[in-house]
Amino acid sequence: MKTLDFYFKDSIKNHYCLGAYNFVNMEVLKGICMGSAKTNSPCLTSVSEGAFKYMGEEFVLNLFKSAKNEFNIPLFLHLDHGKSFEMCKKAVDLGFDSVMIDGSSLPFEENVALTKKVVDYAHKKGVFVEAELGVLKGVEDLVSADKNIYTKKEEAKKFVEETGCDTLAVAIGTSHGAYKFKGKAELRFDILSGIENELKNYPLVLHGASSVPQKYVEIINSHGGKLAGAKGVDDELLHEACTKHNIFKINTDTDLRLAYFSALRANLDEQPENIDLRKFNTLAIEEIANYVAYKNEHVFNCANKA
Ligand SMILES: [Zn+2]
Repeated sequence: MKTLDFYFKDSIKNHYCLGAYNFVNMEVLKGICMGSAKTNSPCLTSVSEGAFKYMGEEFVLNLFKSAKNEFNIPLFLHLDHGKSFEMCKKAVDLGFDSVMIDGSSLPFEENVALTKKVVDYAHKKGVFVEAELGVLKGVEDLVSADKNIYTKKEEAKKFVEETGCDTLAVAIGTSHGAYKFKGKAELRFDILSGIENELKNYPLVLHGASSVPQKYVEIINSHGGKLAGAKGVDDELLHEACTKHNIFKINTDTDLRLAYFSALRANLDEQPENIDLRKFNTLAIEEIANYVAYKNEHVFNCANKA
């Protein structure tokens, strides 16, 4: 089975990226894996600190272990937005494949110090580290900010050299959550190219890059939901980031929530007599699987890279 660091290089060389999909229960994880298996794609299954607390470590580890046994594709367990050394250490000790230390809200030098501490610990145990520089607007789980601060290319180079982090999340205009933009989203590919010139062939990461498919928003709203004005990043822009830039991984959380809830809300309305959870969840799992397969094949360009 191919390793995660194989994909650091191969994704850049061959112009694709890996989806990092967040899961919060067995159903979402199963949908992610079914979709990735359908396109024969590698994939990172991510757990945020909030999801980690919600499921508990035994469930996280055993759900992931079960998924790895059931699906014959490269699956990696990733900690999304670890906010402290202790949280990252815990994930490393539990055997995660990679951890993100998010010190992006700290002053530069403090972010460097925290990230380096995590890198030193994780690398001894063969675990990869993602860091973040720059600030994304929006709300995601336990993370929130009210304005964008784009990543500066000179700082990116210095940061990677000083910390030794394996991948770096950059801020180029994406945003966390379902309410990303008032008008059309713009990604600052000029800023991204500048960073790539400083960090040659280095794997970069995009957060806050859900597309917020309007078909899901409409279904949810027509079945009692209230998601007025929800907007995301166009798939064409994400495809360009994957295929023309050194983006190794794109995070997707909001879209999976939308896929899940569009299936759930529509079917709760259509089957008012049903109280068998499996019937609802089967449809939600299928919707997530279809969405992940679409994303892998048409946006991330990672079909048949397993
Ligand atoms: Zn994020």
